[in-house]
Amino acid sequence: MKKLTEISDDILCPCGSKNPYAFCCKGKVLWKQDPKGKIYRSDKLSDEAVEVLKRYKKELEKKLGRPLKPSDKLFPGFNPRKFTEVLIQAFFKAKFHPQHIYTYLALDGLFVTPENIAKLTTDDKQLYDGFVNEFWDLSLQEKALVLSFLIKKDASKIAPVYNFKFCLKYLQDFKDEKPDLNDYKKFSNDLDLNEHIKPFDLNDHLNDDKEDSND
Ligand SMILES: [Zn+2]
Repeated sequence: MKKLTEISDDILCPCGSKNPYAFCCKGKVLWKQDPKGKIYRSDKLSDEAVEVLKRYKKELEKKLGRPLKPSDKLFPGFNPRKFTEVLIQAFFKAKFHPQHIYTYLALDGLFVTPENIAKLTTDDKQLYDGFVNEFWDLSLQEKALVLSFLIKKDASKIAPVYNFKFCLKYLQDFKDEKPDLNDYKKFSNDLDLNEHIKPFDLNDHLNDDKEDSND
């Protein structure tokens, strides 16, 4: 294990804000460095997430019949593009506010929630605010155009369904109604993700991996 220590207050913040760490991310985002000076962002996971990961690790080790090695893939077979496709479909099914879909895609998959907004780096917060303003500055047609473009870029397979026409109609349903950041809670409460995301079958992938490592 590399020993990581918090970076010093007076160095330029690694988030790119050009401000000293003490006046930027400190207290919001923890930046650490290893003895060689390589900088890492350290995010504290919720107790729930730690519990899930611990259980997942145990299960993986049981299947492998040995402790995990640094070279082991934690989520074998995970396909980020497929994940984005499923998520976008789920957003639309849950009638998620288009501003949230827009900012999520524009920020390359960063969800802004009431829980994490205070912890965003200065840069991410600026980008987020910028995209929110941009969303409201655009005309309905422009919004639909950008939204369908972002979907096409990140999830080309479902793009023919969620095309310009679809996005335009979807946007019209929301009129000028502003979203609440707490919509995310509604989203996770209302939507059974299991209904949309096929649970990842550990067995399939682990068997493949075992065969690979035996030769
Ligand atoms: Zn910063």
